[in-house]
Amino acid sequence: SSLAGLDRRLTDCRRCPRLVAWREEVARTKRAAFADETYWGRPVPGFGPADAALLIIGLAPAAHGANRTGRMFTGDRSGDVLYRALYDIGLASRPTATAADDGLTLRGVRITSPVHCAPPANKPTPQERDNCRPWLVDELRLLGPTLRAAVVLGGFGWQSALPAFAAAGWEVPRPRPAFGHGARTTLSGAAGALDLFGCFHVSQRNTFTGRLTPEMLRTVLIRAATVAGL
Ligand code: SF4
Repeated sequence: SSLAGLDRRLTDCRRCPRLVAWREEVARTKRAAFADETYWGRPVPGFGPADAALLIIGLAPAAHGANRTGRMFTGDRSGDVLYRALYDIGLASRPTATAADDGLTLRGVRITSPVHCAPPANKPTPQERDNCRPWLVDELRLLGPTLRAAVVLGGFGWQSALPAFAAAGWEVPRPRPAFGHGARTTLSGAAGALDLFGCFHVSQRNTFTGRLTPEMLRTVLIRAATVAGL
């Protein structure tokens, strides 16, 4: 099966009752500023080429960001920070991401998340994370032949990604490496080694307080892109 096929099937997923109810309620009630828009209100698939060498793994779509626009990190403050950084280092064609049809393209990098539906308070349950893991495992398998590096944004993504990489055929060190900003570990896989980088999440809480600065984000992305040959 192809990555495009996986993305299409994903958008019909209804495995998590609480998240299905939430994503659809948010799409119905909307935020006043977006009252005249049609919200996506469904699972948000990964974004970027099927032969990506670098994967960025977040947490879950934002209620009025990706859950509105239907594209990863598109239409919210977290995305403003992430796409700006990707543009600055030559991996995104535009510095901003406003809508699924804004023409933005990524070079050699794909963006995904361990949970594909917007959760209340940005907090998926462990059950919802486990429900969604097979999607990430299949995505990793399909990307495997070209994937050389991954940047994981935040501890939730890190805890979710390690078992997914293991299930997709990579060897994950034991004991499992801990998350931290600047954490780095190497997984060996059938198609070669993959370097995993930890980075604080690009959430407003982290970027507004300076816990994660644009410089810190760029530094991790440049390291990972270099490993990935981009
Ligand atoms: Fe399906 Fe994942 Fe959405 Fe749950 S979070 S309904 S598993 S796409």
